[in-house]
Amino acid sequence: MLQVKHIDFAYDKTIVLNDISFVVQKGENLAIIGESGSGKSTLLKLIYGEYDLDKGEIYWKDLQILGPKFNLVIGYDFMKSVTQEFDLMPYITVEENIGKFLSRFYLEERQSRIDELVKVVELEAFAKTKVQYLSGGQKQRVAIARALAKAPELLLLDEPFSHIDNFKKQSLRRNVFKYLKENNITCIVASHDKNDVLGFADNMLVLDQAKIIAEDKPEVLYNNPKLPLIASFFGEYNVIDRNIYYAHQLKIVESSELKAIVKTSYFNGNHWLIEVEFKGASIFIEHKQAIKPGVKIQFSISS
Ligand code: ADP
Ligand code: MG
Repeated sequence: MLQVKHIDFAYDKTIVLNDISFVVQKGENLAIIGESGSGKSTLLKLIYGEYDLDKGEIYWKDLQILGPKFNLVIGYDFMKSVTQEFDLMPYITVEENIGKFLSRFYLEERQSRIDELVKVVELEAFAKTKVQYLSGGQKQRVAIARALAKAPELLLLDEPFSHIDNFKKQSLRRNVFKYLKENNITCIVASHDKNDVLGFADNMLVLDQAKIIAEDKPEVLYNNPKLPLIASFFGEYNVIDRNIYYAHQLKIVESSELKAIVKTSYFNGNHWLIEVEFKGASIFIEHKQAIKPGVKIQFSISS
């Protein structure tokens, strides 16, 4: 179990994290979300022991995680981190990068372990390619596999799929999170992408203005987003009479008290997003077809 207890942190004068506390159970997948600059990466770095805390404590089981003031070498054996920098060795192959720290395994075991991890990140075709020839997304996948290689108990992932294109993202995400669950690896994922969270995270924290402003299961926060910031993470939303509604909760109907004028229609895949003017402001409604600008519509709200 990871325990973060009342931590404060500032790089200089501006406080980045203020009285942050939470617990992550063994095998749990916790998502940390928040706008760019909200302190997600900083929080992961503090858990990793990269900086000294200004206040508070972090424990993994009974072990207190300490920063560079108290530790000559940053990091702990039970914990791996995939940062936004990757930090790979460019002149050796994908396999060699993944296997770099596996020397204590017997030869055969070592190779089958590497093969397994290459498969998790779907890099079979590049196993023997030198890392310098890989794209950013491929490098990111090597970094994930290398972090898994040493079978960490706790894995910190900072925007782990941000460089990976949409063609690969969906299946890769499923592979990696499935692998973590199967191996009971506790994981903390910083992300601004709802697809990294929905369907995978057991719990999520929302960071804003140096504080945790919400903490719950993804489905609870999705179904009842108390703040526009939380709703905006999940999708297009509207505030009507101080209530928050996703675009799919509004419906264009034959007749209703709620009347609006169409401004623009955006193609969105399985639906169109219709921007309408309602009481002098824009609101967004999902609809199955485009509607011409200027058309008067009426809509209802389903909660
Ligand atoms: P996020 O990962 O959520 O985008 P960060 O943790 O990277 O946020 O950054 C939080 C705040 O700390 C930002 O205001 C950022 O500019 C600042 N910051 C991040 N790293 C440093 C650093 N090494 N030195 C000074 N300020 C930093
Ligand atoms: Mg970051």
